[in-house]
Amino acid sequence: MNPIVVIGSGLAGYSVARELRKLDREVAVTVVTEDDGAFYSKPMLSNAFALKKAPASLATAAAPQLAGDYGIEILAGHPVTRVDRAARTVEVNGRVLAYDRLVLAVGGRPIRLELAGDAADRVVSVNNLGDYRRFRQHLETHPRVALLGAGLVGCEFANDLAAAGHAVDVIDIAPRALPRFWPEPMALEFQARLAAAGVRWHLSESVERIDAAGDGLAIVLESGCALHADTVLSAVGLSANTALAVQAGLAVNRGIVVDRHLQTDDEHIYALGDCAEVEGLLLPFIMPIMHAARALARTLSGERTAVVYPAMPVVLKTPACPAVFFPSKLPGGGKWHVEREAAGMRAFYRASDGSLLAAALSGTCTREKDAVAKLLPALTGAA
Ligand SMILES: Cc1cc2nc3c(=O)[nH]c(=O)nc-3n(C[C@H](O)[C@H](O)[C@H](O)COP(=O)(O)OP(=O)(O)OC[C@H]3O[C@@H](n4cnc5c(N)ncnc54)[C@H](O)[C@@H]3O)c2cc1C
Repeated sequence: MNPIVVIGSGLAGYSVARELRKLDREVAVTVVTEDDGAFYSKPMLSNAFALKKAPASLATAAAPQLAGDYGIEILAGHPVTRVDRAARTVEVNGRVLAYDRLVLAVGGRPIRLELAGDAADRVVSVNNLGDYRRFRQHLETHPRVALLGAGLVGCEFANDLAAAGHAVDVIDIAPRALPRFWPEPMALEFQARLAAAGVRWHLSESVERIDAAGDGLAIVLESGCALHADTVLSAVGLSANTALAVQAGLAVNRGIVVDRHLQTDDEHIYALGDCAEVEGLLLPFIMPIMHAARALARTLSGERTAVVYPAMPVVLKTPACPAVFFPSKLPGGGKWHVEREAAGMRAFYRASDGSLLAAALSGTCTREKDAVAKLLPALTGAA
C-alpha cells in the first residue's frame, strides 16, 4: 500500500505523524517538507531572549533523528508543487510520489502590507526558525525595532526585545492591543505595563511610508508622526497557505476548508494546523493543533474521529504583564464584565441572556486559567 503522505514538518505535520505511530506501528508515513525538517518550538521565537536561547539552540531534533524516533520517512528540502487527485500522487522536485491518503499541514505565511517608500521592501517577518536566525543576526547591527501589529506575536516580540535592551515602537491601526480578545481596561493595563518595560505604543495609527535615512529607516505614520528605527518587523497576521489546495481544486475559503473530521471535499485528503479552516474556524494556535492531530491520527488509523475543541487558553508570553485569553467567536450584543484584584484582572464576556461566552485573565489571575476554561463553552461539540 502507498504511504500516508504528510506535507509540512511544523507542529501540525509532526504531531499527526507521532500520534499516528502511537496507534499504528505498521502504516507507512512519509513527511515531505520544503524546509530542513528540524523540529523547533515556534512559540519560543517570540520569547527566545527571555529564555536566553540563541537561534542555534532552538531546534531540538534534526530530521534524521525524528525519522528514527517516529519510524517514518522524511523528505526534507522537498517543496511539493502539485497534487494530482485522480492519480493520488504529489509532485516533489520533479519526482512523483503516490499516496494512500494525503495530509496538508502547510501552515501559513505572513501577511505583507503594501507600504510606500524606498525602504518598504526592508520590512521583515518571522514565521519560522530560518526567519528568526536572519532577524537575530540583523538585530546585532540594527538594534532599534519598529513592530507592525499589536497582536499576540507583535506584543510578545515587543516585550522580549524591550527586555533585551532594544528600543521598540509598536504601531497598530487598532485602538488597543489584542482588541478581539479582551476588554479595554485589561488592554490598557497591559499596555501600561509593557510601556513601563520600555515599549512605545502608536495605536490607532498606520504606516504611511518607510524610507532609508542614513544607516537607519525613517517611518512616517498617517498622523504625520515620524519614527526612526533600524529594523521593521511586521507581525500583522498570517494567511493560510492554500496554493496547493487551490491547484488541486479543493474547497478553499480563508483556509483549506475541512469538516470536523479534518477532511477536505476529497475523501483522501485532510488538512490541519495554520492552513486549515475547520468548520469556519481558523485557530492558528498550539492547543487546537494538538486536538486536531490526535483526532486525525485516530481517523487515519481507522477510527473515524471528529475533532472537539474545548475552550483553550492561549498564554501570552509577556513577563511584563502575564495574560491569558481564550479564542472564541463573540457575537454582538454581549458585554465584558471586569473584576479587578490587587495585581490582576479577570474579564468575562456574557451574551445578552447572561450566558458566559469568553474570558480573559491578567496578572495573578492567570493562575485561574484551568478553572476558567472549565466554565467556558466548547468551541465545537462532538459530532
Ligand atoms: C513567533 C510566534 C509565536 C507564537 N506563539 C504562540 C503561543 O505562544 N501560543 C500558541 O498557541 N501559538 C503560538 N503561535 C502559533 C503557533 O506556533 C502556530 O499555530 C503553529 O506553530 C503552526 O504550526 P503548523 O504546523 O500549522 O505550521 P508551520 O509551522 O508553518 O509548518 C508548515 C510546514 O509546511 C511546510 N510547507 C509549506 N508549504 C510546503 C510545500 N508546498 N511543500 C512542502 N512543505 C511545505 C513548511 O516548510 C513547514 O514545515 C506563535 C506563532 C509565532 C510565529
